[in-house]
Amino acid sequence: MRGACPGAASLSMELAGGCCALSLWLLLCRSPAPGAAAPAPPAGPLAVGQFWHVSDLHLDPTYHITGDHTKVCSSSKGANASNPGPFGDFFCDSPYQLILSAFKYMKESEQQVSFMIWTGDSPPHVPVEELSTKMVINVIGNMTSTIQSFFPDLQVFPALGNHDYWPQDQLSVSANEVYNAVANFWKPWLTDEAISTFKKGGFYTQLFQSSVSPQPLRIISLNTNLYYSPNHVTLNITDPANQLVWLESTLEISLQKKEKVYVIGHVPIGYLPFARNTTAIRGYYNERLVKIFRKYSDVIAGQFFGHTHRDSIMILLDEKENPINSLFVAPAVTPVKSVLQRESNNPGVRLYQYDPLQYSLLDLWQFYLNLTDANMKNESNWKLEYILTKEYGIEDLKPENLYEMAKQLTVPHSKLFQQYYNNFIVSYDKSIVCEGDCKTSQICAMQYLDHSFYTDCIQRG
Ligand SMILES: [Zn+2]
Ligand SMILES: [Zn+2]
Repeated sequence: MRGACPGAASLSMELAGGCCALSLWLLLCRSPAPGAAAPAPPAGPLAVGQFWHVSDLHLDPTYHITGDHTKVCSSSKGANASNPGPFGDFFCDSPYQLILSAFKYMKESEQQVSFMIWTGDSPPHVPVEELSTKMVINVIGNMTSTIQSFFPDLQVFPALGNHDYWPQDQLSVSANEVYNAVANFWKPWLTDEAISTFKKGGFYTQLFQSSVSPQPLRIISLNTNLYYSPNHVTLNITDPANQLVWLESTLEISLQKKEKVYVIGHVPIGYLPFARNTTAIRGYYNERLVKIFRKYSDVIAGQFFGHTHRDSIMILLDEKENPINSLFVAPAVTPVKSVLQRESNNPGVRLYQYDPLQYSLLDLWQFYLNLTDANMKNESNWKLEYILTKEYGIEDLKPENLYEMAKQLTVPHSKLFQQYYNNFIVSYDKSIVCEGDCKTSQICAMQYLDHSFYTDCIQRG
Protein backbone atom coordinates (compact mmCIF):
# COMPACT_ATOMS: atom_id res chain seq x y z
CA MET A 1 0.00 0.00 0.00
CA ARG A 2 1.27 3.44 -0.91
CA GLY A 3 -0.19 6.92 -0.81
CA ALA A 4 -1.99 8.41 2.13
CA CYS A 5 -3.61 5.23 3.38
CA PRO A 6 -0.75 2.93 4.36
CA GLY A 7 -2.73 1.30 7.12
CA ALA A 8 -5.53 -0.07 4.97
CA ALA A 9 -4.11 -3.52 4.41
CA SER A 10 -3.12 -4.18 7.99
CA LEU A 11 -6.37 -2.69 9.24
CA SER A 12 -8.37 -5.04 7.04
CA MET A 13 -6.30 -7.96 8.28
CA GLU A 14 -6.96 -7.15 11.92
CA LEU A 15 -10.66 -6.73 11.27
CA ALA A 16 -11.21 -9.66 8.97
CA GLY A 17 -14.71 -9.79 7.54
CA GLY A 18 -16.91 -7.59 5.41
CA CYS A 19 -18.63 -4.54 6.73
CA CYS A 20 -16.55 -3.53 9.78
CA ALA A 21 -13.28 -3.44 7.91
CA LEU A 22 -14.98 -1.62 5.06
CA SER A 23 -16.61 1.10 7.14
CA LEU A 24 -13.52 1.71 9.27
CA TRP A 25 -11.32 1.93 6.19
CA LEU A 26 -13.70 4.46 4.69
CA LEU A 27 -13.60 6.55 7.84
CA LEU A 28 -9.83 6.58 7.92
CA CYS A 29 -9.01 6.84 4.26
CA ARG A 30 -11.27 9.45 2.73
CA SER A 31 -8.63 11.75 1.23
CA PRO A 32 -5.64 10.04 -0.30
CA ALA A 33 -3.07 12.39 -1.77
CA PRO A 34 -0.65 10.30 -3.82
CA GLY A 35 2.17 11.88 -5.75
CA ALA A 36 3.03 15.50 -6.38
CA ALA A 37 0.95 18.06 -8.26
CA ALA A 38 0.65 17.53 -12.03
CA PRO A 39 2.83 19.65 -14.30
CA ALA A 40 1.00 22.36 -16.24
CA PRO A 41 -0.10 21.14 -19.68
CA PRO A 42 2.01 22.48 -22.55
CA ALA A 43 0.57 25.54 -24.25
CA GLY A 44 -0.40 25.77 -27.92
CA PRO A 45 -3.03 24.12 -30.12
CA LEU A 46 -2.94 20.37 -30.68
CA ALA A 47 -3.31 18.57 -33.98
CA VAL A 48 -5.52 16.01 -32.26
CA GLY A 49 -7.58 16.32 -29.14
CA GLN A 50 -7.39 13.56 -26.55
CA PHE A 51 -9.38 12.43 -23.54
CA TRP A 52 -9.22 9.60 -21.04
CA HIS A 53 -12.04 7.15 -20.31
CA VAL A 54 -12.10 5.17 -17.07
CA SER A 55 -14.94 2.98 -15.87
CA ASP A 56 -16.03 0.50 -13.22
CA LEU A 57 -13.33 1.08 -10.61
CA HIS A 58 -15.25 -1.06 -8.05
CA LEU A 59 -12.96 -0.48 -5.09
CA ASP A 60 -12.94 -3.31 -2.54
CA PRO A 61 -11.37 -1.84 0.61
CA THR A 62 -11.40 -5.25 2.32
CA TYR A 63 -8.91 -6.70 -0.17
CA HIS A 64 -5.82 -8.05 1.58
CA ILE A 65 -3.40 -10.92 1.15
CA THR A 66 -4.00 -13.75 3.59
CA GLY A 67 -3.39 -17.50 3.69
CA ASP A 68 -7.11 -18.22 3.83
CA HIS A 69 -8.14 -17.51 0.22
CA THR A 70 -11.83 -17.31 1.12
CA LYS A 71 -11.04 -14.19 3.18
CA VAL A 72 -9.00 -12.15 0.69
CA CYS A 73 -11.92 -9.90 -0.25
CA SER A 74 -15.61 -9.48 0.55
CA SER A 75 -16.36 -9.29 -3.18
CA SER A 76 -15.42 -12.97 -3.72
CA LYS A 77 -18.44 -13.70 -1.49
CA GLY A 78 -16.71 -16.58 0.28
CA ALA A 79 -15.20 -18.14 -2.86
CA ASN A 80 -11.50 -18.88 -2.96
CA ALA A 81 -9.42 -16.11 -4.52
CA SER A 82 -7.57 -17.69 -7.45
CA ASN A 83 -4.11 -16.15 -7.30
CA PRO A 84 -4.22 -13.11 -5.02
CA GLY A 85 -1.41 -10.60 -5.36
CA PRO A 86 -0.74 -6.92 -4.66
CA PHE A 87 -2.78 -5.77 -7.69
CA GLY A 88 -5.80 -7.98 -7.14
CA ASP A 89 -7.40 -11.24 -8.09
CA PHE A 90 -9.89 -12.33 -10.77
CA PHE A 91 -12.44 -13.23 -8.08
CA CYS A 92 -12.10 -9.87 -6.31
CA ASP A 93 -12.92 -6.25 -6.98
CA SER A 94 -10.08 -3.72 -7.16
CA PRO A 95 -7.63 -3.28 -4.30
CA TYR A 96 -6.86 0.40 -3.80
CA GLN A 97 -3.35 -0.28 -5.06
CA LEU A 98 -4.69 -1.38 -8.46
CA ILE A 99 -6.72 1.82 -8.81
CA LEU A 100 -3.71 3.91 -7.79
CA SER A 101 -1.56 2.08 -10.34
CA ALA A 102 -4.05 2.89 -13.13
CA PHE A 103 -4.14 6.63 -12.38
CA LYS A 104 -0.40 6.72 -11.78
CA TYR A 105 0.19 5.17 -15.21
CA MET A 106 -2.19 7.63 -16.88
CA LYS A 107 -0.53 10.56 -15.17
CA GLU A 108 3.02 9.42 -15.87
CA SER A 109 2.23 8.78 -19.53
CA GLU A 110 2.07 12.59 -19.83
CA GLN A 111 -0.55 12.35 -22.56
CA GLN A 112 -1.96 15.76 -23.34
CA VAL A 113 -5.64 15.39 -22.63
CA SER A 114 -8.44 17.97 -22.61
CA PHE A 115 -10.67 16.07 -20.20
CA MET A 116 -11.55 12.69 -18.76
CA ILE A 117 -14.83 10.80 -18.79
CA TRP A 118 -15.59 8.50 -15.88
CA THR A 119 -18.57 6.23 -16.40
CA GLY A 120 -19.35 5.09 -12.88
CA ASP A 121 -19.52 2.07 -10.54
CA SER A 122 -17.19 2.78 -7.62
CA PRO A 123 -18.45 0.46 -4.80
CA PRO A 124 -17.65 -3.27 -4.64
CA HIS A 125 -19.89 -6.19 -5.65
CA VAL A 126 -20.87 -7.32 -2.14
CA PRO A 127 -24.19 -8.43 -0.61
CA VAL A 128 -26.53 -5.48 -0.08
CA GLU A 129 -26.36 -5.72 3.74
CA GLU A 130 -22.58 -5.18 3.67
CA LEU A 131 -23.05 -1.65 2.31
CA SER A 132 -25.22 1.35 3.21
CA THR A 133 -26.07 4.74 1.71
CA LYS A 134 -23.30 6.26 3.79
CA MET A 135 -20.69 3.72 2.68
CA VAL A 136 -21.63 4.06 -0.99
CA ILE A 137 -21.32 7.85 -0.70
CA ASN A 138 -17.95 7.46 1.01
CA VAL A 139 -16.57 5.18 -1.71
CA ILE A 140 -17.66 7.61 -4.46
CA GLY A 141 -16.12 10.47 -2.46
CA ASN A 142 -12.92 8.51 -2.07
CA MET A 143 -12.66 7.72 -5.79
CA THR A 144 -13.44 11.36 -6.63
CA SER A 145 -10.63 12.64 -4.40
CA THR A 146 -8.27 9.98 -5.76
CA ILE A 147 -8.87 11.25 -9.31
CA GLN A 148 -8.59 14.87 -8.17
CA SER A 149 -5.30 14.20 -6.40
CA PHE A 150 -3.75 12.75 -9.57
CA PHE A 151 -5.32 15.27 -11.95
CA PRO A 152 -5.99 18.43 -9.93
CA ASP A 153 -6.43 20.65 -13.01
CA LEU A 154 -8.23 18.26 -15.31
CA GLN A 155 -11.87 18.65 -16.30
CA VAL A 156 -13.67 15.38 -15.52
CA PHE A 157 -17.14 14.49 -16.78
CA PRO A 158 -18.54 11.72 -14.58
CA ALA A 159 -21.67 9.58 -14.88
CA LEU A 160 -23.41 7.52 -12.19
CA GLY A 161 -23.36 3.71 -12.28
CA ASN A 162 -25.90 1.20 -11.01
CA HIS A 163 -23.59 0.41 -8.07
CA ASP A 164 -23.31 4.11 -7.15
CA TYR A 165 -26.45 3.83 -5.05
CA TRP A 166 -27.83 1.90 -2.11
CA PRO A 167 -29.50 -0.50 -2.45
CA GLN A 168 -27.61 -1.09 -5.70
CA ASP A 169 -29.53 -0.63 -9.00
CA GLN A 170 -32.45 1.18 -7.33
CA LEU A 171 -31.53 4.68 -8.48
CA SER A 172 -34.21 7.20 -7.65
CA VAL A 173 -36.26 9.37 -10.03
CA SER A 174 -36.09 12.35 -7.67
CA ALA A 175 -33.75 14.17 -5.27
CA ASN A 176 -32.13 11.96 -2.60
CA GLU A 177 -29.15 11.71 -0.27
CA VAL A 178 -26.84 10.04 -2.80
CA TYR A 179 -27.41 12.47 -5.72
CA ASN A 180 -27.01 15.34 -3.27
CA ALA A 181 -23.76 14.11 -1.73
CA VAL A 182 -22.26 13.13 -5.09
CA ALA A 183 -23.23 16.52 -6.57
CA ASN A 184 -21.17 18.11 -3.79
CA PHE A 185 -18.16 15.89 -4.57
CA TRP A 186 -18.42 16.78 -8.26
CA LYS A 187 -18.85 20.54 -7.82
CA PRO A 188 -15.22 21.25 -8.80
CA TRP A 189 -15.97 19.75 -12.24
CA LEU A 190 -19.54 20.79 -12.97
CA THR A 191 -21.42 24.05 -13.55
CA ASP A 192 -24.22 25.20 -11.25
CA GLU A 193 -26.78 24.30 -13.90
CA ALA A 194 -25.35 20.78 -14.26
CA ILE A 195 -25.30 20.34 -10.48
CA SER A 196 -28.93 21.41 -10.32
CA THR A 197 -30.26 18.80 -12.80
CA PHE A 198 -27.92 16.18 -11.32
CA LYS A 199 -29.39 16.65 -7.85
CA LYS A 200 -32.87 16.02 -9.22
CA GLY A 201 -32.25 13.06 -11.52
CA GLY A 202 -28.57 12.05 -11.59
CA PHE A 203 -27.97 13.47 -15.11
CA TYR A 204 -26.63 16.72 -16.58
CA THR A 205 -25.29 18.50 -19.63
CA GLN A 206 -22.27 20.76 -19.81
CA LEU A 207 -20.21 22.48 -22.51
CA PHE A 208 -16.54 21.83 -23.00
CA GLN A 209 -14.82 24.85 -24.55
CA SER A 210 -11.94 23.69 -26.70
CA SER A 211 -8.97 25.99 -27.16
CA VAL A 212 -8.93 25.23 -30.89
CA SER A 213 -12.53 25.14 -32.12
CA PRO A 214 -14.84 28.15 -32.07
CA GLN A 215 -17.63 25.65 -31.40
CA PRO A 216 -17.83 24.09 -27.93
CA LEU A 217 -18.46 20.38 -27.40
CA ARG A 218 -21.57 19.43 -25.45
CA ILE A 219 -21.36 16.55 -22.99
CA ILE A 220 -24.62 14.85 -22.08
CA SER A 221 -24.20 12.60 -19.04
CA LEU A 222 -27.18 10.27 -18.84
CA ASN A 223 -28.43 8.34 -15.84
CA THR A 224 -29.19 5.18 -17.83
CA ASN A 225 -29.42 3.30 -14.52
CA LEU A 226 -33.02 4.56 -14.44
CA TYR A 227 -33.67 2.23 -17.40
CA TYR A 228 -31.63 -0.72 -16.06
CA SER A 229 -33.74 -3.87 -15.88
CA PRO A 230 -33.16 -4.60 -12.14
CA ASN A 231 -34.28 -1.06 -11.15
CA HIS A 232 -37.73 -1.68 -9.62
CA VAL A 233 -38.25 1.99 -8.81
CA THR A 234 -38.83 2.85 -12.48
CA LEU A 235 -41.07 -0.10 -13.40
CA ASN A 236 -44.08 1.20 -15.36
CA ILE A 237 -42.74 4.76 -15.51
CA THR A 238 -42.83 6.01 -19.11
CA ASP A 239 -40.12 8.63 -18.66
CA PRO A 240 -38.26 8.27 -15.34
CA ALA A 241 -37.17 11.68 -13.97
CA ASN A 242 -38.33 13.14 -17.34
CA GLN A 243 -34.86 12.37 -18.64
CA LEU A 244 -36.03 11.35 -22.14
CA VAL A 245 -37.91 14.60 -22.68
CA TRP A 246 -34.91 16.51 -21.32
CA LEU A 247 -32.53 14.57 -23.59
CA GLU A 248 -34.59 15.27 -26.67
CA SER A 249 -34.91 18.97 -25.97
CA THR A 250 -31.18 19.22 -25.16
CA LEU A 251 -30.33 17.55 -28.49
CA GLU A 252 -32.82 19.77 -30.34
CA ILE A 253 -31.13 22.90 -28.98
CA SER A 254 -27.73 21.45 -29.92
CA LEU A 255 -28.98 20.83 -33.44
CA GLN A 256 -30.18 24.39 -33.79
CA LYS A 257 -26.93 25.79 -32.40
CA LYS A 258 -24.93 23.43 -34.65
CA GLU A 259 -23.13 21.95 -31.64
CA LYS A 260 -21.53 18.52 -31.45
CA VAL A 261 -22.37 16.19 -28.59
CA TYR A 262 -20.71 13.31 -26.76
CA VAL A 263 -23.21 11.16 -24.87
CA ILE A 264 -21.80 9.41 -21.81
CA GLY A 265 -23.52 6.97 -19.48
CA HIS A 266 -22.96 3.82 -17.46
CA VAL A 267 -25.37 1.11 -18.66
CA PRO A 268 -25.16 0.96 -22.46
CA ILE A 269 -28.02 0.87 -24.92
CA GLY A 270 -28.28 -1.99 -27.40
CA TYR A 271 -27.88 -5.74 -26.87
CA LEU A 272 -25.38 -7.48 -24.59
CA PRO A 273 -22.70 -9.05 -26.81
CA PHE A 274 -22.13 -12.03 -24.48
CA ALA A 275 -25.81 -12.95 -24.13
CA ARG A 276 -28.65 -13.77 -26.49
CA ASN A 277 -31.69 -11.51 -27.00
CA THR A 278 -30.83 -9.44 -23.92
CA THR A 279 -30.68 -5.68 -23.68
CA ALA A 280 -28.93 -4.14 -20.67
CA ILE A 281 -31.71 -1.59 -20.24
CA ARG A 282 -35.41 -2.50 -20.58
CA GLY A 283 -36.50 -3.09 -24.16
CA TYR A 284 -39.03 -0.26 -24.12
CA TYR A 285 -36.43 2.35 -23.11
CA ASN A 286 -33.93 0.90 -25.56
CA GLU A 287 -36.33 1.38 -28.47
CA ARG A 288 -37.05 4.95 -27.39
CA LEU A 289 -33.38 5.85 -27.02
CA VAL A 290 -32.46 4.28 -30.36
CA LYS A 291 -35.18 6.43 -31.95
CA ILE A 292 -33.89 9.61 -30.32
CA PHE A 293 -30.26 8.84 -31.22
CA ARG A 294 -31.24 8.12 -34.83
CA LYS A 295 -33.10 11.41 -35.06
CA TYR A 296 -30.12 13.40 -33.73
CA SER A 297 -27.27 11.31 -35.14
CA ASP A 298 -25.83 14.31 -37.02
CA VAL A 299 -25.34 16.12 -33.71
CA ILE A 300 -23.89 13.18 -31.75
CA ALA A 301 -20.19 12.64 -32.48
CA GLY A 302 -19.73 9.71 -30.08
CA GLN A 303 -21.30 7.69 -27.29
CA PHE A 304 -19.37 6.20 -24.37
CA PHE A 305 -20.47 3.64 -21.81
CA GLY A 306 -19.17 1.12 -19.26
CA HIS A 307 -20.96 -1.44 -17.06
CA THR A 308 -20.35 -4.69 -18.99
CA HIS A 309 -16.66 -4.61 -17.86
CA ARG A 310 -15.75 -5.69 -21.41
CA ASP A 311 -14.37 -3.84 -24.42
CA SER A 312 -16.87 -3.61 -27.27
CA ILE A 313 -18.07 -1.34 -30.03
CA MET A 314 -21.52 -0.76 -31.49
CA ILE A 315 -22.60 0.97 -34.68
CA LEU A 316 -26.00 2.60 -34.75
CA LEU A 317 -27.69 2.14 -38.14
CA ASP A 318 -30.62 4.13 -39.48
CA GLU A 319 -33.80 2.45 -40.80
CA LYS A 320 -32.08 1.88 -44.14
CA GLU A 321 -29.06 0.24 -42.47
CA ASN A 322 -26.74 3.17 -43.04
CA PRO A 323 -24.17 3.62 -40.23
CA ILE A 324 -24.90 6.89 -38.41
CA ASN A 325 -23.32 6.70 -34.93
CA SER A 326 -20.28 5.19 -33.18
CA LEU A 327 -20.70 3.78 -29.66
CA PHE A 328 -17.96 2.49 -27.35
CA VAL A 329 -18.11 0.37 -24.22
CA ALA A 330 -14.90 0.69 -22.19
CA PRO A 331 -13.62 -2.24 -20.13
CA ALA A 332 -13.45 -2.07 -16.34
CA VAL A 333 -10.54 -1.35 -14.05
CA THR A 334 -11.81 -4.12 -11.76
CA PRO A 335 -10.80 -7.63 -12.87
CA VAL A 336 -13.62 -9.31 -10.92
CA LYS A 337 -15.66 -12.24 -12.19
CA SER A 338 -18.11 -14.48 -10.41
CA VAL A 339 -17.38 -18.17 -9.82
CA LEU A 340 -19.92 -19.01 -12.53
CA GLN A 341 -18.08 -17.06 -15.24
CA ARG A 342 -15.51 -18.63 -17.54
CA GLU A 343 -14.00 -15.31 -18.56
CA SER A 344 -13.03 -12.08 -16.95
CA ASN A 345 -11.06 -9.04 -18.09
CA ASN A 346 -7.69 -7.62 -17.27
CA PRO A 347 -7.87 -4.07 -15.85
CA GLY A 348 -8.11 -1.45 -18.61
CA VAL A 349 -8.14 2.31 -19.20
CA ARG A 350 -8.36 4.06 -22.57
CA LEU A 351 -7.48 7.19 -24.46
CA TYR A 352 -9.55 8.60 -27.33
CA GLN A 353 -8.27 10.90 -30.04
CA TYR A 354 -10.62 13.34 -31.74
CA ASP A 355 -10.59 16.08 -34.32
CA PRO A 356 -10.36 19.20 -32.15
CA LEU A 357 -12.40 21.25 -34.65
CA GLN A 358 -15.28 18.88 -35.47
CA TYR A 359 -15.01 16.48 -32.49
CA SER A 360 -15.29 13.42 -34.76
CA LEU A 361 -13.45 10.43 -33.29
CA LEU A 362 -10.10 9.59 -34.82
CA ASP A 363 -8.73 6.73 -32.74
CA LEU A 364 -8.73 4.80 -29.51
CA TRP A 365 -5.69 3.59 -27.53
CA GLN A 366 -6.52 0.77 -25.15
CA PHE A 367 -4.15 0.27 -22.20
CA TYR A 368 -4.21 -2.67 -19.80
CA LEU A 369 -2.51 -4.40 -16.92
CA ASN A 370 -1.71 -8.10 -17.29
CA LEU A 371 -2.87 -8.89 -13.77
CA THR A 372 -1.19 -12.28 -13.44
CA ASP A 373 2.13 -10.89 -14.64
CA ALA A 374 1.87 -7.75 -12.47
CA ASN A 375 1.20 -9.85 -9.36
CA MET A 376 4.03 -12.24 -10.18
CA LYS A 377 6.56 -9.44 -10.66
CA ASN A 378 5.06 -7.20 -7.97
CA GLU A 379 5.16 -4.43 -10.54
CA SER A 380 2.29 -2.51 -12.14
CA ASN A 381 3.46 -2.83 -15.73
CA TRP A 382 0.52 -1.17 -17.49
CA LYS A 383 0.98 -1.08 -21.25
CA LEU A 384 -0.67 -0.44 -24.59
CA GLU A 385 -2.95 -3.31 -25.65
CA TYR A 386 -3.91 -2.02 -29.12
CA ILE A 387 -4.60 1.05 -31.24
CA LEU A 388 -7.99 0.59 -32.86
CA THR A 389 -7.25 1.90 -36.38
CA LYS A 390 -4.03 -0.14 -36.60
CA GLU A 391 -5.59 -3.25 -35.08
CA TYR A 392 -8.48 -3.35 -37.55
CA GLY A 393 -6.99 -1.50 -40.52
CA ILE A 394 -9.48 1.37 -40.66
CA GLU A 395 -8.93 5.07 -41.16
CA ASP A 396 -10.75 6.50 -38.17
CA LEU A 397 -13.66 5.79 -35.80
CA LYS A 398 -16.44 7.30 -37.93
CA PRO A 399 -19.58 5.11 -38.11
CA GLU A 400 -18.98 4.12 -41.76
CA ASN A 401 -15.46 2.86 -40.96
CA LEU A 402 -16.55 0.95 -37.86
CA TYR A 403 -19.34 -0.59 -39.94
CA GLU A 404 -16.77 -1.66 -42.54
CA MET A 405 -14.72 -3.18 -39.72
CA ALA A 406 -17.80 -5.05 -38.42
CA LYS A 407 -18.36 -6.49 -41.91
CA GLN A 408 -14.75 -7.73 -41.92
CA LEU A 409 -15.23 -9.40 -38.53
CA THR A 410 -18.37 -11.17 -39.78
CA VAL A 411 -16.42 -13.15 -42.42
CA PRO A 412 -16.30 -16.86 -41.40
CA HIS A 413 -13.07 -17.87 -39.62
CA SER A 414 -11.97 -14.23 -39.49
CA LYS A 415 -8.69 -14.02 -37.56
CA LEU A 416 -9.48 -10.38 -36.95
CA PHE A 417 -12.62 -11.42 -35.09
CA GLN A 418 -10.57 -13.61 -32.74
CA GLN A 419 -8.42 -10.58 -32.11
CA TYR A 420 -11.57 -8.52 -31.43
CA TYR A 421 -12.69 -11.19 -28.96
CA ASN A 422 -9.29 -11.22 -27.27
CA ASN A 423 -9.61 -7.44 -26.89
CA PHE A 424 -13.21 -7.88 -25.65
CA ILE A 425 -11.85 -9.73 -22.61
CA VAL A 426 -8.82 -7.39 -22.39
CA SER A 427 -6.31 -10.16 -23.21
CA TYR A 428 -7.60 -12.24 -20.30
CA ASP A 429 -6.87 -15.54 -22.05
CA LYS A 430 -5.76 -15.80 -25.68
CA SER A 431 -6.68 -19.50 -25.84
CA ILE A 432 -10.41 -18.75 -25.46
CA VAL A 433 -12.12 -18.99 -28.83
CA CYS A 434 -15.50 -17.43 -29.69
CA GLU A 435 -17.28 -19.09 -32.61
CA GLY A 436 -20.74 -20.34 -33.56
CA ASP A 437 -23.45 -18.88 -31.31
CA CYS A 438 -20.85 -16.89 -29.36
CA LYS A 439 -19.73 -15.13 -32.53
CA THR A 440 -23.29 -14.57 -33.79
CA SER A 441 -24.24 -12.82 -30.54
CA GLN A 442 -21.17 -10.59 -30.75
CA ILE A 443 -21.65 -9.70 -34.41
CA CYS A 444 -25.39 -8.99 -34.09
CA ALA A 445 -24.96 -6.87 -30.93
CA MET A 446 -22.22 -4.87 -32.65
CA GLN A 447 -24.40 -3.77 -35.56
CA TYR A 448 -28.04 -3.95 -34.52
CA LEU A 449 -29.30 -1.99 -31.54
CA ASP A 450 -33.07 -2.18 -31.98
CA HIS A 451 -35.31 -5.20 -31.56
CA SER A 452 -36.39 -5.78 -35.12
CA PHE A 453 -32.94 -5.55 -36.77
CA TYR A 454 -31.28 -7.53 -33.97
CA THR A 455 -33.84 -10.34 -34.14
CA ASP A 456 -33.42 -10.60 -37.92
CA CYS A 457 -29.66 -10.84 -37.48
CA ILE A 458 -29.90 -13.62 -34.88
CA GLN A 459 -32.33 -15.55 -37.09
CA ARG A 460 -29.94 -15.31 -40.03
CA GLY A 461 -27.38 -16.93 -37.69
ZN1 LIG B 1 -19.48 -2.39 -12.94
ZN1 LIG C 1 -22.64 -1.39 -13.66
